Amino acid sequence: MSSILKIYNRRKISFKKGKGSFLYSTSGKKYLDFVQGIAVNCLGHSNKHLIKKINNQSKKLWHVSNAFQIPEQEKLAKRLTQNSFADYVTFQNSGAEATEVAIKFARRYFYSKGKSKKNRIICLKGSFHGRTLATIYASGSKKATEGFSPKVDGFDHFSFGDHKSLEKIITKRTAAIMIETILGEGGIKVIPDFCLRHLRKLCNKKNILLILDEVQCGIGRTGKFFAFEHAKIKPDIVPIAKGIGGGFPLGACLVNKRVASGIPKGSHGSTFGGNPLAMSVGNAVLDIILKKKFQKKVQESSKYFHKNLNKLKDQYPNIIKEIRGMGLLIGIQLFEDNTKFIKKLFENKMLAIRAAENVVRILPPLNVNKKEIDLAMEILAKVCKNYK
Ligand SMILES: *Cc1c(COP(=O)(O)O)cnc(C)c1O
Repeated sequence: MSSILKIYNRRKISFKKGKGSFLYSTSGKKYLDFVQGIAVNCLGHSNKHLIKKINNQSKKLWHVSNAFQIPEQEKLAKRLTQNSFADYVTFQNSGAEATEVAIKFARRYFYSKGKSKKNRIICLKGSFHGRTLATIYASGSKKATEGFSPKVDGFDHFSFGDHKSLEKIITKRTAAIMIETILGEGGIKVIPDFCLRHLRKLCNKKNILLILDEVQCGIGRTGKFFAFEHAKIKPDIVPIAKGIGGGFPLGACLVNKRVASGIPKGSHGSTFGGNPLAMSVGNAVLDIILKKKFQKKVQESSKYFHKNLNKLKDQYPNIIKEIRGMGLLIGIQLFEDNTKFIKKLFENKMLAIRAAENVVRILPPLNVNKKEIDLAMEILAKVCKNYK
């Protein structure tokens, strides 16, 4: 009898080790891992550089309070700002926390500017921003909020692609629009560049802050450091997590100067956020991700994978409806049931995970090689061929 609270539907398998794109089960089987902890292990399992850096740091200093200077934190913040729209960074331990900080900062900014009633945030229906009280009400999902009332107020919602209703729900009280640049849990739905640019303009016109949740799609996942860079726009606030920790719990909220000007000392904090151990991993991840060649390689892998996936779709038009996503954030939308399809992949030693809209999510490590993509294609083709 397990003493773990049953809030997950777990597959009956556990693993003893991982290496790159592969996981080895306790019973000795080898799996192609294209879940990677849900886009967390951006450099795969047991990355040598990450191991070296965390080992070195673990012998020196794990944790000190944010009451003191933390040079490793200075370094990671500097690198995040030098490589993005942001001017300042504050660290958390997870995606939900980082997103919740984004919500807090948007409200706090207008409060500082004497507009305390400008505190509502507009979000997209079917989005995902985490599982804290505020973030479940931000996404507004019926399932995630069920039984957790009274509701956290302050969120208004519009539907994907419904620009008209978006403009209608904007009021003088709207402080921010918060969306995932690419909806992850929501089905790997890419917000088109022209929409992002329109959104930026709309926010400028109405004095609204633009929050782009890049917890899943950021940190090189799409072949650029941030997914919004493809649209050549600059948001005001960006929560990140998942990939930046490479498997270690790490989140951060990035802001521009304007937002920072409304966030006074003492208005937020975290015990663990930004401790030296976490920072050593974050810095080690950036050592690799920020190389120009690395991003190019992600783009090439992506192109190759998408090309082959689209071929498969043409071959099995009754099974596969659409190939979605960008970079190595990939969704296969099916006509067939996604859970059943994922089970068949699993039986063929490939791990994938669901997303909404009957999508199978494929999240390889960013340093995946061609041989591993070929193996995934082989398994996908086999499952399609024998589909019953
Ligand atoms: C995963 C995710 C979160 C929540 O991150 P946790 O670390 O699970 O709290 C928030 N936003 C997006 C877009 C995510 O994909």
